[in-house]
Amino acid sequence: MKHFVLGILILGASLSTASAQKNPIIAHRGAWKNTELPQNSIASLNAAISEGVFGSEFDIHLTKDDILVVNHDNDFYGIDIATATYQELLAKKHPNGESIPTAEDFLKEGLKQKKTKLIYELKTNRLGLERTLLAAQKSVELVKKLKGEKMIEYIAFDYDACKKIVELNPKAKVHYLTGNKSPQELKADKMAGADYHFSVYKKNPTWIAELQKLKLKVNAWTVNEEAEMKNLLDQKVDYITTDNPELLAELLKVKK
Ligand code: MG
Repeated sequence: MKHFVLGILILGASLSTASAQKNPIIAHRGAWKNTELPQNSIASLNAAISEGVFGSEFDIHLTKDDILVVNHDNDFYGIDIATATYQELLAKKHPNGESIPTAEDFLKEGLKQKKTKLIYELKTNRLGLERTLLAAQKSVELVKKLKGEKMIEYIAFDYDACKKIVELNPKAKVHYLTGNKSPQELKADKMAGADYHFSVYKKNPTWIAELQKLKLKVNAWTVNEEAEMKNLLDQKVDYITTDNPELLAELLKVKK
């Protein structure tokens, strides 16, 4: 009887840890690599959603005329976003025929469903902090207008932008990307967690446990190799951001 009870307890404990990371997949710039869709397109967002991932990540820039648009690089097929108007950006298209999505259109599409979170990376504006903070303010206003607060989590490399988002919406989940703040600093500044390059956790081997102890989320980017995915899953991180969500989904199936 004693062994039976102990067995149940152990089973219960292992099930609860397994469920903590049942779906840790964040598709980096949508699902584009294996689907051959353009990164950060609405098509790649929908592909990620149809894969059932926890989150789909995308990158946001501010145009010269203060429109938030979705793209990774500072330029959209050669047109510099920070110094171009939105109209000027429409001169180019993604190979699948899409124009550069506005953040508003992109979020409206993502908010048609409730399963996959929208992981909103606010890019640092190359024209300076003032523009980055304006982009942060406009982002919080847009998410509020679309009633997307529960579905959207923010990430950013600029710590002032992270703090600005928390200041404007204390309930916003904001994860810092650069990797140079300790778990204690993130907690003090009311961040939801760390989203650091996986090498940062190797250089600071106590941080994952410290983040977990402080009840902060642990995310790692951009993890495309199976061995590193397994290493992070073993450390029970909350999320893994990857260009290869399909591979991570396969590994999780095997683990079950
Ligand atoms: Mg990004």
